[in-house]
Amino acid sequence: MPQKNFSSIRRKLLRWYDQNRRDLPWRRSRDPYAIWIAETMLQQTQVATVVPYYERFLENFPTIDALARAPLRKVLALWSGLGYYRRARNLKLAARIMVRRHAGLLPTSYDDLLALPGIGDYTAGALMSIAFQKPYPAIDGNARRVLGRLFNLTSEKKLRAAAAELVSRSRPGQFNQGLMELGATICAPMKPCCPECPLRCDCAAQNSDGRVATTAKKYIGVKAVTWPLAVVRRRGKILLRRRSTEGILAGLWELPGGELGASRSIRACLESHLGALNGSLKFGPRIGELRHGITNRRIRAPVFLFDVRPETDFHLPELHSRWVSPSSLRGYPVSSMTLKALRIFAAHEKTFL
Ligand code: SF4
Repeated sequence: MPQKNFSSIRRKLLRWYDQNRRDLPWRRSRDPYAIWIAETMLQQTQVATVVPYYERFLENFPTIDALARAPLRKVLALWSGLGYYRRARNLKLAARIMVRRHAGLLPTSYDDLLALPGIGDYTAGALMSIAFQKPYPAIDGNARRVLGRLFNLTSEKKLRAAAAELVSRSRPGQFNQGLMELGATICAPMKPCCPECPLRCDCAAQNSDGRVATTAKKYIGVKAVTWPLAVVRRRGKILLRRRSTEGILAGLWELPGGELGASRSIRACLESHLGALNGSLKFGPRIGELRHGITNRRIRAPVFLFDVRPETDFHLPELHSRWVSPSSLRGYPVSSMTLKALRIFAAHEKTFL
């Protein structure tokens, strides 16, 4: 690794970042708590998606103390649609630990940060450098790609050593954000835009034969799934049920329905999910269909509308089921797939008003 270039690389990257950085709400804040929320939301999620969630979250929970005291249901409701809900549960857990052990503040040591739920190497490094201006590396997928190409490295150990050596001592937060921003906007996985890169003269990938290795996505087996959903309506309210606290989408509220087994029809699948309600329902029309992805499942979800016969008297089919009016839906943490299905229902209702 040509260490003599390091100071020139730092200088060029910081200059480029100062001139080109995107204006994002968390970059206007120096509050470590706000930076922690942003860094957590940005994991696995696009910047444009995060912005409104970040603003709403901070409006509702402006401090660690407010987050620690908030009901988990409200935290999850504000997270609805952002996916990877374990992040929201961990934020809440970590906030409670900070109130108990760290006087309601984000700890300022790397090891104390790493000991908190939901904080791994990357987030601890990002917080140390961006929130506390300490020279720790923060290596997300974008920074890893830039460093790998810049120094022609594939070994994780060498890459980490290079990142630790390279990080700016005077402006570590801006430097790490610059590296990630370069990866997000110029040093793209498949088509890096090398002529616009501030590091092109230092880049090993550029200097070898001018051809940059691109990053093929790891192949993960994708399963195509049909997942029928039921909008069950009774006196202007909709039936929601709560998922178990284990497994995917743990604890979220959703419309009844589920994965279609190989040998079952859509009707049989929905009837089994509606359980004791079956006799009271009029099997209604298909009002639309949505597409959704969860982990490695590519889901096709036809949505059906059921009306409960007004004369019937019954108990809800499960303990964790509830009739919810449209106006109180916002208070429920619902899965993204259910949100999409409810939009289909709302559009259908408009059509038939
Ligand atoms: S020159 Fe090209 S490959 Fe090298 S860091 Fe810049 S964009 Fe990436």
